[in-house]
Amino acid sequence: MAKDSYTEFANTGFGRRITKALGLPQPAKLRRYSPGDPVIEGPVVLVGQSEASDLIAGRLLDWDLDVRRHVGPKEKVAAVVAVFDSAHSPANLSESVLELGGLLKQLKPSARVITVFRNPDHTEDPAARAARKGIEGLTRSLAHEMRAGGTANGLILHENLDPAAPSVAGALRFLLSGRSAFVSGQFITVDSVNGTLPEDWSAPLRNQVAVVTGAARGIGAAIARTLHRDGAQVIAVDIPAAGEQLTQVANQVSGTALQVDITEQDAAERILAHAEQHYGRLDIVVHNAGITRDKLLANMDAGRWDSVIAVNIESQLRMNQVFLDSELFSRTESTVGPRIVSLASTSGIAGNRGQTNYAASKAGVIGMVSAASAQLAARHGTINAVAPGFIETEMTAKMPMATREVARRLNSLSQGGRPEDVAETIAYLVSPAAAGTSGLTMRVCGQNLVGA
Ligand code: NAD
Repeated sequence: MAKDSYTEFANTGFGRRITKALGLPQPAKLRRYSPGDPVIEGPVVLVGQSEASDLIAGRLLDWDLDVRRHVGPKEKVAAVVAVFDSAHSPANLSESVLELGGLLKQLKPSARVITVFRNPDHTEDPAARAARKGIEGLTRSLAHEMRAGGTANGLILHENLDPAAPSVAGALRFLLSGRSAFVSGQFITVDSVNGTLPEDWSAPLRNQVAVVTGAARGIGAAIARTLHRDGAQVIAVDIPAAGEQLTQVANQVSGTALQVDITEQDAAERILAHAEQHYGRLDIVVHNAGITRDKLLANMDAGRWDSVIAVNIESQLRMNQVFLDSELFSRTESTVGPRIVSLASTSGIAGNRGQTNYAASKAGVIGMVSAASAQLAARHGTINAVAPGFIETEMTAKMPMATREVARRLNSLSQGGRPEDVAETIAYLVSPAAAGTSGLTMRVCGQNLVGA
């Protein structure tokens, strides 16, 4: 990982004064989760009076949070949860929006703003849909305005969903916590009340068995470590050439290593056989392995195009079918249900020069998860994608210094994310509490300013 000297400098007393005086980006030290951390420290203010907001307040109180309806003018605020449950027309929004706006100057560093509203697509009333879409626009813009490592995200609830459902609580907790440090300007859609809250929030994946492809290094190794930290047993998969590093990662997480090239026809069968033999079950699949072979389309050759499509999307389509057809992964009696998460990329959303092959594969991942959610639902499971933006890895450390420096600053948090930030979002999506969210692509990009 390349050192981010600018962020280190900007977080010294002198650096803070200089960057402010010159109007330069001011990347803050982000609040990241460690086991045992409180969800969030300081007052959490509920904005919006409705039955839904009372139910949400009840949930937050269950976690011993300092939940308030009002704070004093000098008090610091850790989070604002703005519940827009009764927004029937854009004209209804102003009271709650202005109340939210009035709290922003009192936010602590790494504060959270979470808007909660009903799915715009679930109403045919033009005024109601306009109001709901309006909250989306407001949330995205507010995320750009947050300071000192603060983030703003939205929680979109299915029309008739009980706001006290575990799936809503799980999403709220993720967004309030340090697990979502590099997630901003995003929306979590919760479509069902399915899901259970863990007895122990420091081990939500206890008793689960997870396979992570491309686990020998980078984001995959971080995913393996994070799932293990959260209680899962991990099968670390990578190509034979990465065998030594793979064994190291597997040992670090007290897991097992399996050398498989995921483009081989029998890759999924070999993973299932390994899971059966070592653990007798398989609950979670994380398709992380991915490659880039960049070239302008005018200079593209079959080797570059085909290899990227084969590793990044074709292998996943083939493997998912085998996993879903297997008893081991698709046990319908399981209360939690199988979980799949795939790595997409912001290139698959916004496009990127020189990456037609990569963007096609990653946009393909986004399409695959939205289409496959019905297949997973039939097995009480979920499938989602995570789209990282600029993440500090060996891959991005090889970028020319100037390009890397620009890429780092081009998001609302003015810094690159860490592999752990991507891993935290994946750990949330595969957790029992996230059972109500499927077919979604969540960006972990600090709200990239360019493209998407
Ligand atoms: P990386 O190159 O550091 O690691 C990828 C791993 O996948 C390697 O260990 C590699 O050996 C393995 N792999 C490649 N082909 C394989 C195959 N056929 N079978 C099994 N394993 C294989 O990459 P990374 O930066 O850690 O990225 C991980 C994922 O995140 C990729 O899907 C990538 O496209 C995606 N992503 C990364 C970034 C970023 O900024 N680093 C941004 C967006 C998306």
